[in-house]
Amino acid sequence: MTLRWTCCSLLAITQVLAAQSEETAPPTEPSSHLLGYSAQASQTQKDWEKKFRDSIAPDSIRENMRRLSARPHHVGSPYDKDNAEWILSRFKEWGFDARIETFNVLFPTPKERIVELLEPTKFRATLQEPVLPSDPTSNQTAEQLPTYNAYSIDGDVTAPLVYVNYGNREDYEQLDRLGISVKGAIVIARYGGGWRGIKPKVAGEHGAIGCIIYSDPKGDGYYNGDDYPSGGWRPRFGVQRGSVMDTDYPGDPLTPGVGATADAKRLAVKDAKTITKIPVLPISYADALPLLSALKGPVAPTDWRGGLAITYHVGPGPAKVHLKVASNWDMKPIHDVIATLYGSSDDQWVLRGNHYDAWVNGAEDPISGQSALLEEARVLGELHKQGWTPKRSVIYCAWDGEEPGLLGSVEWVETHLEELQKHAVAYINSDSNDRGFMYPGGTQDLQSFVSGVAQDIQDPETKMSVFQRSHLSSIAQAKDGDERKDLRKRNDLIVTALGDGSDFTAFQDLAGISTLSIEFGGEDDGTQYHSIYDDFYWYTHFVDTDFVYGRALAQTIGTAMMRLADADLIPFDYSPQAEAIGKYETELEKLLKDKQDEFAEQNLQLQEGVFTATSDPRRPTIPPPVETVPPYMNFAPMKNAIELLKKSSQRYSKILAAWRTKGSPAISPQALDTVNADLLRVPRLFLNEKGLPERPWFKNQIYAPGAYTGYGAKPIAAVREYMDAKKWKEADTQIPQVAQVIENVAAGIDRAATDLENSFSRQQ
Ligand SMILES: [Zn+2]
Repeated sequence: MTLRWTCCSLLAITQVLAAQSEETAPPTEPSSHLLGYSAQASQTQKDWEKKFRDSIAPDSIRENMRRLSARPHHVGSPYDKDNAEWILSRFKEWGFDARIETFNVLFPTPKERIVELLEPTKFRATLQEPVLPSDPTSNQTAEQLPTYNAYSIDGDVTAPLVYVNYGNREDYEQLDRLGISVKGAIVIARYGGGWRGIKPKVAGEHGAIGCIIYSDPKGDGYYNGDDYPSGGWRPRFGVQRGSVMDTDYPGDPLTPGVGATADAKRLAVKDAKTITKIPVLPISYADALPLLSALKGPVAPTDWRGGLAITYHVGPGPAKVHLKVASNWDMKPIHDVIATLYGSSDDQWVLRGNHYDAWVNGAEDPISGQSALLEEARVLGELHKQGWTPKRSVIYCAWDGEEPGLLGSVEWVETHLEELQKHAVAYINSDSNDRGFMYPGGTQDLQSFVSGVAQDIQDPETKMSVFQRSHLSSIAQAKDGDERKDLRKRNDLIVTALGDGSDFTAFQDLAGISTLSIEFGGEDDGTQYHSIYDDFYWYTHFVDTDFVYGRALAQTIGTAMMRLADADLIPFDYSPQAEAIGKYETELEKLLKDKQDEFAEQNLQLQEGVFTATSDPRRPTIPPPVETVPPYMNFAPMKNAIELLKKSSQRYSKILAAWRTKGSPAISPQALDTVNADLLRVPRLFLNEKGLPERPWFKNQIYAPGAYTGYGAKPIAAVREYMDAKKWKEADTQIPQVAQVIENVAAGIDRAATDLENSFSRQQ
């Protein structure tokens, strides 16, 4: 699973960019040598890095994909295990110290699935993706996991059907206005507009007893381009599988907070909070069409309508649907492959990961990323044989069980939490790789660093640098002149905050480890996300057909890994991070002001009778409820803390720049160790042991996903989530706690600045 580079995610990125570019901090001064390196070390490093990039071979990435995606390989399947062993032996062959770590997790697979229309006509959904003669692996039906949503509760329900658009909280407010309740109904929602797991969650909260999710052609089918197999877009019987595990905590539902080792204490399945409350199944639009066509009731609001040649009605009924889901609730072993290339010191670790399990053949998700990761490891092994040894240990992780719920990475991080917090410098993730642009996600202490890396990578098709292409495309997407002006002043790429949705989650949200997520995308000719058609044939005809973006991914992340591993000084720069956190705080204040204005206006219109006057007597709508206008909140503690953070960040950036521009005088190894130990500690200071107020697994107080957005980031979630729930007082009480965390971070940075200043001034 991953954020897809669809029109929607590009839009989201544009919005984030828009939100982040209101003010710009001075970027780190350009320097001829690398961030965190002395002048001499920098040149040697550049030579090794060039050697690395020149050795990355698209054909070898292609061969990795052909091997790994040749058969279906979901959790617990024979080929998944086979892949793990193949990956293990490759790492060993390349000179890594590699091993498999096994965990035992709950992984339900389908036993019985029914979706049928009982009234006004009869129709039974096929729930089957057909074999396509031109697609050579689509006929591996015996090994394919049927179409389903993992961690749906078992259920057998019959009820009238209601169309709920994307099934988000706002969609139910619209339904209220239409006077439609989903209580006792089965809802049908289209994919998109947020993470799939939110749909059954919100439906259940509104009293629905079942949930069907379908892929509308407007989202990823013929509306966007020719469909498969003549084009790359989802065909009429294509289905998106996927997990619907609830958002309380990721990982194995039976072992929250601890590794799912053989002897771990486990919850009973009935007590696992992350299993859905109502049954849910995904279907194709071919299966959805008879259901949607049988709905009457109000015509769906304009922006609820999809790309099918029907009038979209909301219901309820007269369509009456029978939905049955039953799973085998089995325990399955998952196998993480962990491979270390030891540094000259093993005290600090730089980590890299991508999952290898898929829903079916998964050429794009995740093998496009895994194939690039393996090519990086092959070439690092080659350099090692030629005499390159990293300063810090480099750890490559091929995760199993990501698709059901980040199982492999979460259980591994939970098991090794203490040592990771002691040793980990950073974690770099990828998942699916396509053609196009690279917009980094992660923690902004690595923003200057990753921007520097992107300068050194060539975009394979346009031949400009990856940095320049992403920078210029962000100007093209800017919302207005002010934003363009700000972007033009920057000489870095903005790192967007990550929430959830791939294997970086446990590193960032639980362990407080600095994180980057790097992938290319935005120029694809289609998607077969979580379908049997996401396979080698489809990928090599419609995506990165010559694997040059696979090469670009391996070059980008491999360069980043080497540069992090070899740096004299861990290349963190905190000014962009302080700038980003400042913006997150500004967004909170704006959210409050917007809600105050919105509710005051709505209440005024209620008084004036606007809603009564505009309700068509023949198609009446119900006025919205009177809302309590939010009280003012006290953001002062957070703003004061952010001022401190900005000061200490600028202080550190300044001393770092001085060290670089003055030719990087040598700092004694002991002094470097001291500063590096300080730097290693700073990202941990974002954690609060209590975690988020209603999701204690999530310890990071700045970077977190939303409980109702799934993948999407909700920075400063402790405050923002209460605001979204209109719990203003609770939101207010969280502010001092978040402020305390920001103050701790500022103090940590100050300590690093002092130690760097001291080591530096002693050399003057
Ligand atoms: Zn994935």
